Amino acid sequence: MRLHGTKVPHHKNTADMAPVRLPLPEVVTVPMSMHIGKPAKPTVKRGDTVKVGTLIGEPDGFISAPVHSSVSGKVLRIDEVSMSSGGMVKTVVIETDGLQEIDESVKPPEVSDFDSFVAAVKRSGIVGLGGAGFPSFVKLAVKDLSKIEEVVINAAECEPYITSDTRTMLDKTEYIFKGIDALRKYLGVRKFIIGIEDNKGKCVKRLKEFSKNEDGVETYVVSSMYPQGGEKVLVYNTTGKIIPQGGLPLDVGVIVINVTTLAFVGEYLETGMPLIEKVVTVDGSAVGEPKNVIAPIGTPVKNLLGFCNADSEPAKILYGGPMMGIAVDSAEAPVLKMTNAVIAMDEKEGTPPKTTPCINCGRCLNHCALRLDPRAIAKAYDLRSGEDLEALCVDLCMECGCCAYVCPAKRPLIQTNKLAKALLREYKSKKEEKK
Ligand code: SF4
Ligand code: SF4
Repeated sequence: MRLHGTKVPHHKNTADMAPVRLPLPEVVTVPMSMHIGKPAKPTVKRGDTVKVGTLIGEPDGFISAPVHSSVSGKVLRIDEVSMSSGGMVKTVVIETDGLQEIDESVKPPEVSDFDSFVAAVKRSGIVGLGGAGFPSFVKLAVKDLSKIEEVVINAAECEPYITSDTRTMLDKTEYIFKGIDALRKYLGVRKFIIGIEDNKGKCVKRLKEFSKNEDGVETYVVSSMYPQGGEKVLVYNTTGKIIPQGGLPLDVGVIVINVTTLAFVGEYLETGMPLIEKVVTVDGSAVGEPKNVIAPIGTPVKNLLGFCNADSEPAKILYGGPMMGIAVDSAEAPVLKMTNAVIAMDEKEGTPPKTTPCINCGRCLNHCALRLDPRAIAKAYDLRSGEDLEALCVDLCMECGCCAYVCPAKRPLIQTNKLAKALLREYKSKKEEKK
């Protein structure tokens, strides 16, 4: 049995387009929070000179990640700005000097064992590039290595439009396998499963070529179905294991790592260049010439859109794809560590559909990979019933958007689920207090 979801249009228009480098922006705006956890603390001040790879923010606490300059130039100011994900965050604003001099600290890390490997991954600034932004070193710092039975490499890239992982698989294949080597050597992993959808034939061919002489590496082709790349879905569909409710993949002996994250780790071990730029798919109905572009982190989104001949005022701009993407409130917003796509939509694509009352058709339930019942969740939320929401397991919802996509009444099901999850958290913490 396989977990299901729904078929969505692929729109992988840029899959065959090798990334092109964006002209250097005049100014980059680099937020101290581009990860889950505490924001980094700025280590530079106004007037400081920085180079490519200079540390400009140090981790603050265990779950945090360092931030590096993506350009050489001068720090103009430290701002406090609001982010599309909500909340105010310190950002380092740097005027580029056009030289792109590399910082002297950039050199291949010395890695000889598990501890030095995890420390190197931490210094690199890498976070989960599949969208979540969880600091990768935290995930890899497994206390009991004997618990790891296999690593699932998430190469599904199931969201419409996005092809940045596809380009990693085609252009940086050797680094994916260097990353695999490192996990084998320093974490003792013996089994790797690359989970990839069947609409990426060229990638499958290339991965199989590379893995034919590799022990314990399997390229596992799954059907192209949304949300195949959801962690719980991919783990089940490639290993048959069910991640327990509220648990982690490691509870069933699995580490899941995004394919571009893993390739970055392989490349960092060779070059020592921290995470300072991204391959970003720029596409959508308001984009005249869709492309994959290489952009320094902190580049304004408007530069990417201009480079790809987009409408000057698109109706909607998203970080990420149309299913799970986050609306960008201004084209001045910067490219972040987790930005794998910028999608700009015209009026027709970007205007929210008119909602009508629920007709109890059950399509939302039938298409939810986790078999949640969004219709019942919406009712429980309307009643503000934490008890019912707990029974309906709304906390399992991965906000994939499948239910909303198939709903004929165009109900705002993801938004409702997000609010319902917040209500359930409050309900559970009050229940705890009473104990
Ligand atoms: S209920 Fe959650 S997990 Fe299920 S389809 Fe809707 S958004 Fe996805
Ligand atoms: S798909 Fe939409 S209309 Fe159908 S039951 Fe679910 S919420 Fe109601």
